[in-house]
Formats: sequence, C-alpha cells, structure tokens
Amino acid sequence: MNREQSRTAGTLDEMPRLVKSERISVMIVISKNDRKIRIGYIPNDQLRNENGSILTRVGTRCTTCNENKGFTLLVERHTFLPSQNDNYFLQCDNCVERIGLEVSEVTKIERIAKLNEKLKLKKISKEKYDQKIEKLLRK
Ligand SMILES: [Zn+2]
Repeated sequence: MNREQSRTAGTLDEMPRLVKSERISVMIVISKNDRKIRIGYIPNDQLRNENGSILTRVGTRCTTCNENKGFTLLVERHTFLPSQNDNYFLQCDNCVERIGLEVSEVTKIERIAKLNEKLKLKKISKEKYDQKIEKLLRK
C-alpha cells in the first residue's frame, strides 16, 4: 500500500514538467508555420489593359529572364499566434524569380488570379469565365 502511494506521488510530481515541455514544443511548431498558398496563375497578356501595364512597377514580363508566359500569384503566410503576416509574390513561370508585391498591387490582380484558378479547377464554366474576365480586364 505504502509503496503504491509513493509511486503515485512520484508520477504526479513529474506531471507538471511533462506538460511544460509539451507546451514548449507546440509553440515551436506554431512559430515555424510558414505556409505558401497558391492564389492563381496570370498570363502576361492579362497584366495589361488598353491603358498599358496594370502593375506599372512590375510590367507585363519577368525582368530577369524576359521569357515567361506568365506568373503565379502566391502568398506566404507566416503565423506567429495570435497574429499572422502575409507576403504576396508574383513568381515567374520560367525562371521562378519572385517579385514582392504591395497590397495595392495585389488588389489589382487578385481577382484575376482567383478567377483563372477557378477555371483551372473547373469550378466555373468557360462561358461564365469569359464574361467575368472581360469585365475584370477592362478595368
Ligand atoms: Zn523569369
């Protein structure tokens, strides 16, 4: 009886230490949570409208290789609970060079990229896509 009691007491004593180290490892995992999320692909010709380049700073082609057919819009989400930080990029489909984007630039092309992704995943008919993309590109 006595021996069992002391064993129980010993286990209880070690418990807080175990819980503590578990918490620490969870925190490390969370702080490393950097996710790269694909928003959608944008061909070069959708980066310009009748007034010229939609993103004047970026242009309509990769300035590093000048041989790309388009870019993929990506977001890197760094999570440090309770906050998160999003960094947006255009990634060249040829040389994989990345261009960091300002939020105001992302706003101009995000809907185009999302619509292209919908079509690619067949979540929208080609007919509907054509109607919507025309409106987006005319802006
Ligand atoms: Zn390139």
